[in-house]
Amino acid sequence: MSDYQTFTADDARQFALSHSDTFRDSDKLEAEEFGDGNLNLVFRVKNQQGRSLIVKQALPYARCVGESWPLTIDRARIEAEVLLRHGRICPEHTVQVLHYDAAKAAILMEDLGQLTILRSELVAGKQFPRLASQMAQYLAHTLFHTSDFVLNGLQKKTEVARFLNPELCLITEDLFFTDPYCNHERNNIHQAILPQARELWHDEALQAEVARLKADFLSKPQALLHGDVHSGSIFIDAQQCKVIDAEFGFYGPIGFDVGSLIGNLLLNYAGQFGLQEDTTALEQQHRYLLEQIETLWQGFASEFSQLMQTQSKESSFANSSYQHFFLQQVLADSIGYAGCELIRRTVGLAHVADLEQIRNEQLRARSERLALMLGRQLIMQRHSLTTIQQLLTLVQHQE
Ligand code: ADP
Ligand code: MG
Ligand code: MG
Ligand code: MG
Repeated sequence: MSDYQTFTADDARQFALSHSDTFRDSDKLEAEEFGDGNLNLVFRVKNQQGRSLIVKQALPYARCVGESWPLTIDRARIEAEVLLRHGRICPEHTVQVLHYDAAKAAILMEDLGQLTILRSELVAGKQFPRLASQMAQYLAHTLFHTSDFVLNGLQKKTEVARFLNPELCLITEDLFFTDPYCNHERNNIHQAILPQARELWHDEALQAEVARLKADFLSKPQALLHGDVHSGSIFIDAQQCKVIDAEFGFYGPIGFDVGSLIGNLLLNYAGQFGLQEDTTALEQQHRYLLEQIETLWQGFASEFSQLMQTQSKESSFANSSYQHFFLQQVLADSIGYAGCELIRRTVGLAHVADLEQIRNEQLRARSERLALMLGRQLIMQRHSLTTIQQLLTLVQHQE
């Protein structure tokens, strides 16, 4: 801890120079802080030939709130180790970590600046045909290979202990599962949807289902999750797709990662009503988003069951009835967590550009109401939606 001090641009330069072969001592390095995230500092360090690396440093508090919200810098270790583990399993879709220093709470990684952040592209109405199939591979492989289907008991329990991550989990427990369902001061609710937000505070049937999802989040260490798979954690272009920002990683329910991504695609779906004025373009974007959700689930489920079939440590996990049962549960969880994501991004502390960038207030309120309705339906109906097509039908009939 005594080694820790907040990096200046010069510290970031030094860190990048000392811990990689990318730069030479004679290089004139430029460094600038450009992070737009909620929690951390992010520097780009660049030499005169244009080669660059990223230095990310955890601050001892949450950047978006300030020093009044202290937060462990151990999250840099968690982030680096999750990315390193996921990177060994799925290097194609995980940002490459070159070095990390737990005491300095700093990570050196590849610069993905040639790609763009998925959220801003989706807000702009762009489409990436390979998004869902690539993310299905990422999720199936990272989650399967950190699960009990592969690890032995001692390995698994050692890993669970290594990634307890209580402080960051507590943020999710509060912001994702608690705040939106009560009149909490952290909530951020636009006036126009206050009546719908209030309904959440009195909806006991919904609260009971959210309690079940939260209890599973707390007590179902199925696999090493990324923990924050929203569309701001994905860098993308037409060919590639890479995941960053794994500081919320811990052993939790597989459906949480899958559902976070589905929830973010649905937030964009809801937002498009206010973002896209042209009706043909709107229909196309909606079709694209639903196709991606379908491909994501189908791709994930078929890859995951293939892995259960061929790479499980025990034959009992290769049993096809068990595979079916297991994936049905993951689907129900995913739909439930997607519903929670829709709700918390609409009325909770952390909003998303997919809704916030709708300029017309009435249209924004309409999209926000849709996100809330959809979120509620997903949470309540997650056990009766037994195929992904049934989920898509529900979405299309929501409007
Ligand atoms: P936070 O944990 O604070 O949300 P992120 O890891 O999401 O931080 O990074 C914040 C921003 O910094 C990203 O939205 C992106 O613009 C930039 N960034 C982070 N990592 C990289 C990277 N490896 N390459 C390029 N830009 C990056
Ligand atoms: Mg981030
Ligand atoms: Mg707001
Ligand atoms: Mg983060």
